[in-house]
Amino acid sequence: MSFWKNKKVVVTGGAGFLGAPVVEILRERGAEVFVPRRRDYNLIHLEDGLRCFAEHRPEMVIHSAAFYGGIWINQMYPAKIYYENLMMATNVIEACRLSGVQKFVGVGTACSYPGYLTGELQEDDLWNGQAHETVRNYGAVKKMMQLQCWAYKKQYGFNGIHVILTNLYGPGDSYNPDRSHVVAALIRKFVEARQNRDAAVEVWGTGRPIREFLYINDAAEAIVRAAAMYDDVEPVNIGTGIGTSIRELAETIQEVSGFAGNLTWNTEKPDGQMKKILDVRKMKAALQWQPPTSLRTGLEKTIHWYVANKNAADARE
Ligand code: GDP
Repeated sequence: MSFWKNKKVVVTGGAGFLGAPVVEILRERGAEVFVPRRRDYNLIHLEDGLRCFAEHRPEMVIHSAAFYGGIWINQMYPAKIYYENLMMATNVIEACRLSGVQKFVGVGTACSYPGYLTGELQEDDLWNGQAHETVRNYGAVKKMMQLQCWAYKKQYGFNGIHVILTNLYGPGDSYNPDRSHVVAALIRKFVEARQNRDAAVEVWGTGRPIREFLYINDAAEAIVRAAAMYDDVEPVNIGTGIGTSIRELAETIQEVSGFAGNLTWNTEKPDGQMKKILDVRKMKAALQWQPPTSLRTGLEKTIHWYVANKNAADARE
């Protein structure tokens, strides 16, 4: 019998960008998945988490809900990012413990790593320095989940894991310019510029920062694998291990979206961390897997989806 057959799983954020494909994969594999919605259970409050788990009796909880976004949302809503993410994670983990949930999967972020390291980011470096100032609060609160799982394991024998995701992109992302990450932001800009026959598209920063981009369905597959196969309280990175400069990314999106004009660089906008690439050796060994979708293929799929669903995509928060 497969690991997932009839397994009862709650996926917080299960209607969101990352949660939705996680839910889809789990259901395909036979799990019974419940997705709490905020109007019914506001997981910032411990009582709501307890009520949710009492009603749905999950064996596992995958915590994918978060208030987050690209570099700009961290400038606009630092306090909301701090409060909502910290309270939600803290209370969801406590509710899991009190409800006898067998496993908790916390979705973490590469923003948690020290912001000024130059090499590939290794799991052992997670606590070795301050996150980059542009994402300090988001990075810090997300990694508190890992600390909580460590403390709960020590005191209660609780099984909580922490997966650290690199930058994600794909269909279903936020295309709202205040909130979007670079891939969604640039796809929207280039597609609109082509439609409007604009002369130029403005890209933020210098183009020199290096990022790693993981296609959303590959991220979801990695989470499902980690949920089934990984039981160590120490974190595991999830990414491609491949770095791409923002300039190269912008030029690829320009080409795939068919925009014939120019790129201009707005250096008034922040570059953020100069290099963010995860060391994925542990992931490859523990999950027996690596992400199959190349950046080019993922961008083609995403741009195709965006053009076909532009109005709905732009209306999403
Ligand atoms: P980060 O990985 O947390 O820094 O988040 P982002 O995905 O928002 O930004 C990644 C890099 O892309 C940064 O160096 C940004 O300056 C750069 N970038 C270039 N153009 C844009 C844009 O239009 N929107 C966003 N969000 N980032 C952009």
